[in-house]
Amino acid sequence: MFSYRHAFHAGNHADVLKHAILVHILDYYNRKDTPYWVIDTHAGAGIYDLTSEWAAKNGEFVDGLDRLLAAESLPPLVERYLLDVQHFNPDGVANFYPGSPWLALRALRDADRLHLFEMHPTEIDVLRDNLAEQGERAIEQTTLHQADGFRGLKGLLPPLPRRGIVIMDPSYEDKADYRSVLQSIKDGLSRFATGCYAIWYPLVQRREAHEMVRSLENMDVKWIDAALTVRKPVEGGLGLHGSGMFVINPPWTLHKALDEAMPWLAKTLAQDDRASFTLALSPSAEAPAVAKRVKKDRHIKRVGKPAAKD
Ligand code: SAM
Repeated sequence: MFSYRHAFHAGNHADVLKHAILVHILDYYNRKDTPYWVIDTHAGAGIYDLTSEWAAKNGEFVDGLDRLLAAESLPPLVERYLLDVQHFNPDGVANFYPGSPWLALRALRDADRLHLFEMHPTEIDVLRDNLAEQGERAIEQTTLHQADGFRGLKGLLPPLPRRGIVIMDPSYEDKADYRSVLQSIKDGLSRFATGCYAIWYPLVQRREAHEMVRSLENMDVKWIDAALTVRKPVEGGLGLHGSGMFVINPPWTLHKALDEAMPWLAKTLAQDDRASFTLALSPSAEAPAVAKRVKKDRHIKRVGKPAAKD
């Protein structure tokens, strides 16, 4: 269960989608002065050295972050996310990749708070050391929990300021994670119905993954689901061919931003002609007259040639 280390994947296409959306949500929360909490149920190490042996082993950032850095005419959602990545690389070379905790720290104002869950016994030490290097303010704002984020979440809800963002980003190495996400989100919503919950999920050939997304869609909440396919599914394997972000109680600005960004991301991050995206939203996220149309047409668009069925 403890073999996953995010350093091998930092800055890949999945991180790009996840983190661009997270930065947009954080910006939206900063529009109001009222403080908020960010609860990251699966924190990882916080920041990653892309020149390290682990990151270089698969070089996944080459087909993720690097493609964005080389591109022109970026959609605003992507441009804004890259500003944060650049902040952690002041000399202009993208050697460091900020994970979700670091993007949150960048956004937080003095009264805002960050709660990080990390269960890996070594990763939590790396996270603690990394945090220590961020200085007093970051240390004071952050609480580290070496515990199961799925179970620990409910104990922090509702957040004291009654505003909060939950980011749930498991590795799904254990297929029980799919069920744990649903249970944890249900528990969370029962204590804090107005929170924003951003759930990352892999696009893999696994029944549990499809069922989890269908179950999330059937919850009686407002949601946006953005999924990015970068390549043809791996024959008979469980390899990642893309990923999605399911956002419950999304900022009202998110759908428009993704409508602009997703076609561009699908084109820019395409690894073959099967690259595509879907952008769907809950019927309750729009006025009733529009909802009917939106539900029928799930905004499914494909980039490249129409594909044969898997
Ligand atoms: N959210 C991070 C980011 O965007 O930078 C990456 C997180 S990584 C995909 C998942 C992390 O969750 C791993 O570091 C893993 O050790 C940790 N983990 C796995 N199961 C966990 C659990 N039940 N509770 C808390 N952390 C867990």
